Amino acid sequence: MIFQNTLSYARELDSKDPLRKYRKEFYFPKVKGSEVIYFTGNSLGLQPKRSQAFVDEIMKDWKEMAVEGHFHADKPWWDYHERLAAPLARVVGARPAEITVMNTLTVNLHLLMVSFYRPTRKRYKILCEEKAFPSDQYMFRSQVKYHNLDTEDTIIEIKKREGEHFWRTEDVVAKINEIGEELALVLIGGVNYYNGQVFDMKTITSAGKSVGAYVGWDLAHAVGNIELELHDWKVDFAAWCSYKYMNSGPGNASGIFINEQYLNRSDIPRFEGWWGTKKETRFLMQPEFDPMETADAWQISNAPVLALAPYLASLELFEEVGMPSLIEKRNTIVAYLEFILQEIDKEVASSFEIITPKERGTQLSVFLHGQGKPLFDYLMEQGVITDWREPNVIRLAPAPFYCSYEDMYRFGQILKSGILKK
Ligand SMILES: *Cc1c(COP(=O)(O)O)cnc(C)c1O
Repeated sequence: MIFQNTLSYARELDSKDPLRKYRKEFYFPKVKGSEVIYFTGNSLGLQPKRSQAFVDEIMKDWKEMAVEGHFHADKPWWDYHERLAAPLARVVGARPAEITVMNTLTVNLHLLMVSFYRPTRKRYKILCEEKAFPSDQYMFRSQVKYHNLDTEDTIIEIKKREGEHFWRTEDVVAKINEIGEELALVLIGGVNYYNGQVFDMKTITSAGKSVGAYVGWDLAHAVGNIELELHDWKVDFAAWCSYKYMNSGPGNASGIFINEQYLNRSDIPRFEGWWGTKKETRFLMQPEFDPMETADAWQISNAPVLALAPYLASLELFEEVGMPSLIEKRNTIVAYLEFILQEIDKEVASSFEIITPKERGTQLSVFLHGQGKPLFDYLMEQGVITDWREPNVIRLAPAPFYCSYEDMYRFGQILKSGILKK
């Protein structure tokens, strides 16, 4: 596609965009009375307008039925979470039985490590990417200490090559083979939060499993962003949060995937609670734990229905649109943003460097050489919400659900004026 850095061209792209009507499904914050250009859907997705009604429904049922709402609400609360499994399964490429929604992301990763990280004297090492998201690093170290192992010896980080901003699949695979039978677990962020790189999950999963390790993925930046085929890739387990590209609201509930082969297996341990027991007998309050036959067996507490409501609303939107059309628009809008950056770079004779490799989703991470925090602040004042990382990287994620091509054009103009002003 031959792009042009003009308003009329951007508007033409918008007029041909099959998803353009979905922009109106979301609330945009305003700066100086105008809707912002929102690049941080990778951090907190915008609020879908329809989510309010889903929350109100629960509030109303609670007001009018109180405890009876558990069984007699239109959407009963006792198995409300089950409504999310099928639509989420379509987003992540799984079978509905492999999915459940519970707790929050780091908590779920801990719980999944209970099931899938069971170090032995010989096989105990964990492989992750260097500079993993901090919460994941804290999780790894605390798990390793919990097992009385040495963190230095146990946690192996895959490094980038000198002078490169991305990880190479061949380096990951080589590391897996090098650790071999000492490798207990591979757990990597499927899309790296910093450089936006999409890992080759299929190849890495298969390499990890071929040396006898479990392979899990933290999909915080992947879900709702890239194509996932968790079941077909034979991933062992995965977890993600729902407040980034899934637009379900701040700090909201996390989804998990557990490969079908681990369901109904008494040799896979887990931490248990009453919401994991069979629905039919749950309220008989029996001493025996009789697990659900799905990933719901990992449920512990009764479901936070008020939190699940906006997640369900958001999934309704994903059902309507489908990942393939989101991905199609994503590819074009990100390519257009990249083009705009290159054009502005030429015009202002600056030196932007896009550090996101070609294996990418919605996010571009850009080094703004010679620019500092004042540029970011200027963008904010002008109603462009980006994410700033020291020393001078901005992360730009034009979520295809609600960002427009005109946003990309306008961003370019504001960026240019910010740089020239200096
Ligand atoms: C956003 C993010 C988290 C956040 O974890 P919470 O438990 O939801 O606070 C964890 N890991 C990665 C890779 C993330 O991007």
